[in-house]
Amino acid sequence: MAELGEPGYRAKQLFSWLSSGEDNFEEMTNLPKSLREKLSKHCTLRPLHMLRKQVSALDGTIKYLWQLEDGNAVETVVMRYHHGNTICISTQVGCRMGCAFCASTLGGLVRNLTPSEMFGEVLASERESGLTISNIVLMGIGEPLDNYSNVLRFLTLINHPKGRNIGMRHISLSTCGLVEGIDALAEEDLQLTLSLSLHAPDDETRSRLMPINRSVGLEKLMRACVRYYEKTKRRISFEYIMVDRVNDTLEHAKRLASLVKPIGGHVNLIPLNRVEERSLPPSPPERIAAFSRELEKLGVNVTVRRSLGGDVDASCGQLRRKTEIL
Ligand code: SAH
Repeated sequence: MAELGEPGYRAKQLFSWLSSGEDNFEEMTNLPKSLREKLSKHCTLRPLHMLRKQVSALDGTIKYLWQLEDGNAVETVVMRYHHGNTICISTQVGCRMGCAFCASTLGGLVRNLTPSEMFGEVLASERESGLTISNIVLMGIGEPLDNYSNVLRFLTLINHPKGRNIGMRHISLSTCGLVEGIDALAEEDLQLTLSLSLHAPDDETRSRLMPINRSVGLEKLMRACVRYYEKTKRRISFEYIMVDRVNDTLEHAKRLASLVKPIGGHVNLIPLNRVEERSLPPSPPERIAAFSRELEKLGVNVTVRRSLGGDVDASCGQLRRKTEIL
């Protein structure tokens, strides 16, 4: 605005319009006509282009595949819960973490998403679905803490009172456990929920499922979790996918309890979604139930994730793999 010779408050007005999803400068009626003309002449707004949409016949979950300007594609999922509509957004094109159960990482990392591309996922999904989003989870394609500054910038923008104003308490950030990122995030002292993809309570099992563990290790990771909890006073949610006979014995449950109890962590058990290219077997429901009961008995706060969108490839990275345009 300064470059255009305009007063600073015009930037706030423009930011509010952009945050509302308006993509036509002419409609920004509280800006003077001359400024609207200048903006139309000098700037272009390019909303994400929809490549595919799948709607679950089971629960109304919507999965989008968006095309970015450089031709890459990312996925966004919109889930309808009684407490509001939740969007699961991608933070990177691909992923370099290499987890053994995950479809997103199969082609490696292509690039980071920019803050506006992440914001664009929210705006385009709202516009296309006609739904208002009240909660955001950063659990789509990519590792948010591997794209730290862009993700932080996105959070600041989406949380801004002059913009979308989505409260930090309505945002969850999920990580495979990058210790430096967790420490940096603790310093920001945000009210968001940190979800930690733990998936195993011992180094041997975790390293088998998640290569990141070979360099960091559980002890260092859990120490970072303690620091995070002490700094932010926010309880961490530990994600735990259930893989048959790999991490789902009662012995695993006991070890898991001993890791998370000291910091009052909540455990979210996730039924493993089968990914064609991966051979890991999901735990049967009765083993999940027994594991959950054991954790409860040991005084751990535990929930089993309700699986939505099972018929629309809603699990991390699945749709992008099927529509390969790389
Ligand atoms: N990189 C971040 C966020 C993206 S993955 C992270 O690791 O947390 C979001 C969640 O989906 C993670 O908990 C991840 O482990 C889980 N996930 C990945 N593939 C899955 C699958 N096939 N079935 C169930 N959950 C899966």
